[in-house]
Amino acid sequence: MAIQGLCPKCGKRVLHVNVENVVGVVEGSSKARCLCFTCIHCNTVLGVQIDQRSKPRSRSAQAAPPAA
Ligand SMILES: [Zn+2]
Repeated sequence: MAIQGLCPKCGKRVLHVNVENVVGVVEGSSKARCLCFTCIHCNTVLGVQIDQRSKPRSRSAQAAPPAA
């Protein structure tokens, strides 16, 4: 009944994940800090997401309208 996340590679329950800071690269240039979650047993990447905590270097990124 309980939801059990299983690593797709080693099949162990994912009770812990390694969290690594990685950089999202768009067309060859670094665009955003991301978080990479990997299985602590086999280091398989389980997911990557944008790091919401970090702010981009350009201050114009906070809900700025795409006005020229
Ligand atoms: Zn694993």
